[in-house]
Amino acid sequence: MARVRLDLTFPPRQATKPVTYHLVKDFDLTPNILRAQIQPGQQGRMLLEVSGPREAIDEGIAFLEDEGLTVSPAASDIELDEERCVVCGLCTAVCRPGALALDAESAALVFDKDACVYCEACVVACPRRAVTLRF
Ligand code: SF4
Ligand code: SF4
Repeated sequence: MARVRLDLTFPPRQATKPVTYHLVKDFDLTPNILRAQIQPGQQGRMLLEVSGPREAIDEGIAFLEDEGLTVSPAASDIELDEERCVVCGLCTAVCRPGALALDAESAALVFDKDACVYCEACVVACPRRAVTLRF
């Protein structure tokens, strides 16, 4: 089993296409929408986590591209302004998946982008507005 995170861009004509349904039905994959900005008739964007056999994931990606979507590996969409951050740890307390942690030795904030589910809890919790979500 493999798990990948994909950044999908939908052209306006495809914005309402139920691609996640097809990933389940036609490729037996398990998609998990982490974030989406989709409006009918406009270009849309979706951050999608997909789990399944590697070969099926590759076939699913090929299907998405055939449908006119642009597919790229998801990059880190959380940005930390280190000049603003005072390493208070408040954001780590609200980060349920444990994507943010304080390193005991260096006393630095460590971000694990693979664990992040882009919930924005850290953005809201930070009193210094040091965290931004770029998606
Ligand atoms: S809550 Fe803000 S200031 Fe505190 S550690 Fe997190 S990012 Fe830094
Ligand atoms: S967006 Fe959510 S999961 Fe990601 S680092 Fe912030 S609190 Fe954690």
